[in-house]
Amino acid sequence: MSDKHKSNIYGMGVLKSLGLAFRHFLDTYLDDIRHWGKRYKTPEGIAYRASKDVKGIFTVQYPFEKIPVPEEFRFVPFLIYEEKAGTVEYRCTSCGICAKVCPPQCIWIVRASDPNTGRPSPDPAELYIDIDICMNCGYCAEYCPFDAIKMDHDYELASYDRKSNVYDKAKLGRPLSYYASVRPINYQREENARLEAEAQRLARRSHA
Ligand code: SF4
Ligand code: SF4
Repeated sequence: MSDKHKSNIYGMGVLKSLGLAFRHFLDTYLDDIRHWGKRYKTPEGIAYRASKDVKGIFTVQYPFEKIPVPEEFRFVPFLIYEEKAGTVEYRCTSCGICAKVCPPQCIWIVRASDPNTGRPSPDPAELYIDIDICMNCGYCAEYCPFDAIKMDHDYELASYDRKSNVYDKAKLGRPLSYYASVRPINYQREENARLEAEAQRLARRSHA
């Protein structure tokens, strides 16, 4: 290929990229006009800018406005508890699987013991996660056999104090309703599977 031909190709490439950048620049203003008064600082505008239809270049005016995160977004884990007859029951059985699979080893669990017999009981007496070390991989939630630990959406966790970033059981705990609100599709899928398993169990028992 001759040098002249090569420089023609490169020249066209540069012009195409400039054209694309210019089109995005224009789209910004056209989209502002199309969604006059609604593109910024309104729930409708934020939802539009979080969608695949958005055009142009824009700045998210954080922290005054926040782009909603998708359901599968992961930040740090939380522990699910259920409120039954006035008591709080954590789903966690302190099996230790999450601590074993955690790549940076930032989960610590102390298993509770029966006060009468001294035998280990399926509850975490203490459970800590160092959220500064957590790499947000979601393995703990993925591998937990009891749907007891899930990944949160809350990413505003800055603090001035290193110690407060080692979360204990109380700080990690969230009611089941919270899980249902942040991950409704996952929650429903798991509930359906649970109901189906229960129905199968009852059917087997009635045939026995
Ligand atoms: S959160 Fe799940 S995997 Fe981790 S100890 Fe509790 S039950 Fe086991
Ligand atoms: S999200 Fe990953 S790094 Fe964080 S606690 Fe769970 S397994 Fe560990």
